[in-house]
Amino acid sequence: MLNILTVDVEETFHATEVQASSGTRHWDVLASRVEDQTRRVLEIFAAHGVRATFFVLGWVAKRRPGVVREIVANGHEVGAHSFSHRLVYELTPAEFRRDTEEASDAIAQACGCLPRMYRAPSYSITAKSLWALETLVECGFTHDSSIYPITHDRYGIPGFPRRAGVIQTPSGPIFEVPIATIELSNGCAVPVGGGAYLRLLPYCYTAAGIRRINRENMPACIYFHPWELDASQPRLTSRLLSRWRTYAGLRGMAGKVERLLREFRFSSMEAVYPFSRPAAVRAANQGLM
Ligand SMILES: [Zn+2]
Repeated sequence: MLNILTVDVEETFHATEVQASSGTRHWDVLASRVEDQTRRVLEIFAAHGVRATFFVLGWVAKRRPGVVREIVANGHEVGAHSFSHRLVYELTPAEFRRDTEEASDAIAQACGCLPRMYRAPSYSITAKSLWALETLVECGFTHDSSIYPITHDRYGIPGFPRRAGVIQTPSGPIFEVPIATIELSNGCAVPVGGGAYLRLLPYCYTAAGIRRINRENMPACIYFHPWELDASQPRLTSRLLSRWRTYAGLRGMAGKVERLLREFRFSSMEAVYPFSRPAAVRAANQGLM
């Protein structure tokens, strides 16, 4: 079973957990570590001959375009992770459209092609912001991977289908790839696919989860951030829960990622779920009809 490997490319200070206590004012003066961190991920993937989808923050693509070019040069797929890492359900539809277009432009400027895959910051496409899928179709995206079918303090749509599939919007279809979950006997979905679970819990938690999902004949979509492999990064938040969620387990993370790559088969989102919209819908969206 081919599973889906995804990486959200951002600086540590973009993480919602860190933003909540350190704010956004100092982004331009904080030391950038994303190039080295992403290079390390690329080296690990190259050593295991694996292809992945990298969702790049537009802010990073604009300031560090070389990162996007390196990802493409290594044969990976590039998607967008918004421009400014703001939660979708806190934006108006017009603000979301502006942010998405800015992200697409920054990525296209960096590598010469428009992204077709989207992942919202902190999985912030929820029941309150499902309208965002229509905007994504209008902005040329064919795949979204922003819905976590779980209950969480900041995100999630409990009860949302755990299996990837097409969602119809008034502007056309989009292929939704939810993050990996397992279903308990009471019908509750439990998260498996996040970097934090791999980092904070024993390796066997994620591995057993992926095996269980694959037994349902379903690929597992997992993700992590390049900063989760950087044990020497400065600690930017002093809140106890945020510190634990962000910085615990960094030292063992690279070894766990490598073990996953040895024990499971992974590829990019497009390779696992090829999906393109009918030509008529594309033409209509581009104002050609
Ligand atoms: Zn993010």
